[in-house]
Amino acid sequence: MTVAVAFAGMKKAVDVVFRAGCPDCRANFELGASALRLAIGATSKTTFYSFTCPECGTSVRKPAGERIVELLTGGGVRTLRLHSAG
Ligand SMILES: [Zn+2]
Repeated sequence: MTVAVAFAGMKKAVDVVFRAGCPDCRANFELGASALRLAIGATSKTTFYSFTCPECGTSVRKPAGERIVELLTGGGVRTLRLHSAG
């Protein structure tokens, strides 16, 4: 087995977890990629990620900068691309 193959298998086994905080109840928690949604708009102002707080159930939406977008897409978060304005 080559090192590359071993690495590929390892990569698949690791579940990516993102740290997030709720602005409503101020809880801090870790979310898997499936718990997050990323929406990419035409500009950075319309690019955001969202999740539901596991503590209080609030829908949280936060702006996503380039680094966050990279992180989330790389971690397998479902991405929605918003093409039309409005
Ligand atoms: Zn909360």
